[in-house]
Amino acid sequence: MQLIDGNQIAGQIFEDLKISTARLLAEKNIVPHIVVLRVGNDPASVSYVKRKEKAAAEIGFRSTIKVLPETATQSELEALIDIYNADPAVHGILIQSPLPLGIDETAIFNRVVPEKDVDGFSTVNVGKLVQELPDAMVPCTPAGIMELLRRTGTQIKGAHAVVVGRSQIVGKAIANLLVAHDASATVTICHSATKDMAAITRTADILIVAIGKPHFVRADMVKAGAVVIDVGINRVPDASKKNGFRLVGDVDFDNVAPLCERITPVPGGVGPMTVAMLMKNTFKAATRLA
Ligand code: NDP
Repeated sequence: MQLIDGNQIAGQIFEDLKISTARLLAEKNIVPHIVVLRVGNDPASVSYVKRKEKAAAEIGFRSTIKVLPETATQSELEALIDIYNADPAVHGILIQSPLPLGIDETAIFNRVVPEKDVDGFSTVNVGKLVQELPDAMVPCTPAGIMELLRRTGTQIKGAHAVVVGRSQIVGKAIANLLVAHDASATVTICHSATKDMAAITRTADILIVAIGKPHFVRADMVKAGAVVIDVGINRVPDASKKNGFRLVGDVDFDNVAPLCERITPVPGGVGPMTVAMLMKNTFKAATRLA
């Protein structure tokens, strides 16, 4: 069994980006600039935004973190996005999800011009991904999963990939990337109405789980020799920890790992890749808008 080290692979992407960013500055006098908009003080969002700010600084990007109060309205948010859309010194705009109740998230994601939509959540970018257009901004978590599979030499072409979960940002997007011609897996998507899911997951050469249920995938749901990508991030109570919880994935790692050809841990698997791919998208946006 090989443990897929997301921190190490993300680290390589960071190093490559540092070099490309220094070159972009030297040759074109451009510093990629990402704006992150956060509304309210959801603790997980605060920590995610901090991580993105730190990553941008490490690579040599400029970042602007704009925090709005929980009471911010749809029109206030849209007006702010319009300002950043029109600002040529801004290359990427990210709206940290979740937004407060009452805000139409899809409308907000669609307000960002597609060229600056570094999260890839807008309808235009989802369409481009499905149509396999090269200028699509691919959502960061699924893009990171593809990097993990490719950089570990996982056989994707012709493999049976089973995706558990059908969210826009993970499940559906990774299924589309896997079925695209440059990957060419045979893809099955499972969700909460799927019957006898274990019979399906047991046929997976590549099993990708993104449902948000701690330890949902048990050893009897996994084929020996499978490659397992655990996207889930779940907080479970742990009295031995200072903050009272620890993070676990959607896969029962201890019992599943011995069966696998390779598997991602949680934390340290998919999570670091999401941030790395956000930085990659921002670099792409900066070079395209130049
Ligand atoms: P969503 O809640 O948006 O979607 C969950 C999906 O799982 C839904 O499609 C749902 O099905 C399906 N599902 C829920 N319960 C079951 C079940 N018992 N059997 C089968 N399918 C089920 O979640 P996300 O996709 O946003 O996130 C999933 C997990 O990944 C979370 O733990 C999240 O924290 C994590 N995550 C991690 C990231 C990272 O960077 N590592 C990034 C994004 C997410 P249905 O549609 O039928 O309701």
